Amino acid sequence: RLAKAAFGSRDDLKLSINAVEVLKRRYLLKNEARRVVETPSELFGRVARHVAQAEADYGSPAAVEEAQRRFYEMMRSLEFLPNSPTLMNAGTRLGQLSACFVIPVDDSIEGIFKALGEMARIHQTGGGTGFAFSRLRPRGDVVASTQGHASGPISFLSIFDKATEIIVQGGKRRGANMGILRCDHPDVVEFIEAKGRRGVLTNFNLSVGITDKFMRAVVNGRDFALVNPRTGRPSGRIKAGALFDMMVNAAWRTGDPGLVFLDHINRHNPTPQQGAIEATNPCGEVPLLPFESCILGSINLARMVAEGRPRRAAATVDWDKLRDRVHWGVRFLDDVIDVNRYPLESIADVTRRNRKIGLGVMGFADMLIRLGIAYDSPQAVTFARRLMRFIHTESLNASAQLARDRGAFPAFRRSIHAQGGRRLRNATVNTIAPTGTISIIAGCSSGIEPLFAVSFVRHVLSGTRLFEVNPWFERIARERGFYSRQMLADVAASGSLTNVKGIPPDVKRLFVTTFDVPARQHLEIQAAFQKHTDNAVSKTINLPADATVDGVREIYLAAHRLRCKGITIYRYGSKSEQVLSMGEPN
Ligand code: UDP
Repeated sequence: RLAKAAFGSRDDLKLSINAVEVLKRRYLLKNEARRVVETPSELFGRVARHVAQAEADYGSPAAVEEAQRRFYEMMRSLEFLPNSPTLMNAGTRLGQLSACFVIPVDDSIEGIFKALGEMARIHQTGGGTGFAFSRLRPRGDVVASTQGHASGPISFLSIFDKATEIIVQGGKRRGANMGILRCDHPDVVEFIEAKGRRGVLTNFNLSVGITDKFMRAVVNGRDFALVNPRTGRPSGRIKAGALFDMMVNAAWRTGDPGLVFLDHINRHNPTPQQGAIEATNPCGEVPLLPFESCILGSINLARMVAEGRPRRAAATVDWDKLRDRVHWGVRFLDDVIDVNRYPLESIADVTRRNRKIGLGVMGFADMLIRLGIAYDSPQAVTFARRLMRFIHTESLNASAQLARDRGAFPAFRRSIHAQGGRRLRNATVNTIAPTGTISIIAGCSSGIEPLFAVSFVRHVLSGTRLFEVNPWFERIARERGFYSRQMLADVAASGSLTNVKGIPPDVKRLFVTTFDVPARQHLEIQAAFQKHTDNAVSKTINLPADATVDGVREIYLAAHRLRCKGITIYRYGSKSEQVLSMGEPN
């Protein structure tokens, strides 16, 4: 199970077989014959060397070396990883290091196809793109140049989807997109239904851009005006409750659309003088201005734990270690802004002006297990809030220190931070990313999600089937004396511990898996992290197959009340291309 098996004596880094597979396929550099030419340790060396170059503008050669060493150690120990494009592209000719972009779409054929071209450029480099289509005139509206009828935002969506399909990102991964339409756009009903048929718009997440006015109309049972964005005039009225029900029904059926709460997002827009935020990146965790990009990095919480003494006592958070990694993580991401090669001049401008970064976490479920806290408990929510408050405070401290050493971000004086008394290097500091791939590399639970399964069979490329067991479960099973092959096989068959005999109740409680966590608890955890995250939180509210439409409505309403910036649900089995399935992930 070690990387050694794959890289001989060249690398002594301990990685899971899965991590090695992922790295070999898409991250490690290859020569022209497509042979892998670096080891995982060399990859981290390449990234550390490249990113630390930024330090030369601010410090002595010794400081550059120190930063490079710390970056390398932090990645190699799998305590911190930057988003995938940084791992793939640092120190290469491409050199594009950000995962998240927002591209504006103007209401003209020229504007639409300009955005399409910009999307293509970004996808080529491994970035994901978000768009608001809200400014496009509705279907059937007048087109002055041709005296014809406009085809409307939803028809253009499919062009973006198709183009995404064709441009496989740098040969490494297909682009991901977020499409947003405001709730008061005349085509909103069509938008809500846009992913109703299987296999359409598969490269898009869709979210309705929700306003507070709309939510008030829903709650009070009132009508709501739809507005033509071209004229600014109302084009009809609709019962807000009925429109909301359409969103809820479609989400129950297909998982789309999610909601993004635009007013709440804009109340926290750090740079309102530069305009309103109308969209987010593909998975919703970074609200961005038009042409803004953001670089993400995540700390592996499973490795921020101090072992309990004596051995069986629950472990505790290693707060000093966490503080140190937060400071170096912020510094790493701030350096990336300097060495990044931007796909467009407009993106370079906005990104360098605000210097947004998104430091977050992965391995939260693993950490809870090690601390002896059940994900599905009130303590988990309280702890999540405390943990994220600490990370946010320390991230701001780190950014303030960088501002003293390097200067505040250029737009600081006209930002909301100018009233705050201390200068900051970055307009935002924290984001909770999905960490879909980097959590596999780090071998931890993804983002702030619960465990997907305790044990499962994984099919690997060669056709072999691998038995994967959560390492913390295996360890506890051995320590507490209920380990057996039969027990593991039983767990693998169902993915969950619920019906397996011989496992103590407290262990069952600790290893709760995602579809056994009540939806409300998923949401409470999301809201707890959001409370101390200046960007947003990527979280999927997983629901069992038999969840009801009313259950979905309750979650969508509660997400707004709890001040989440967005909400996404997924009901088991409701999508044909499910990434992971019980018993047989991937
Ligand atoms: N992303 C993308 N394509 C993908 C996966 C991710 O463009 O196939 C972008 C997207 O903006 C997403 C962000 O990367 O919101 C972060 O996703 P994640 O944390 O899962 O990426 P990782 O760094 O683990 O690959």
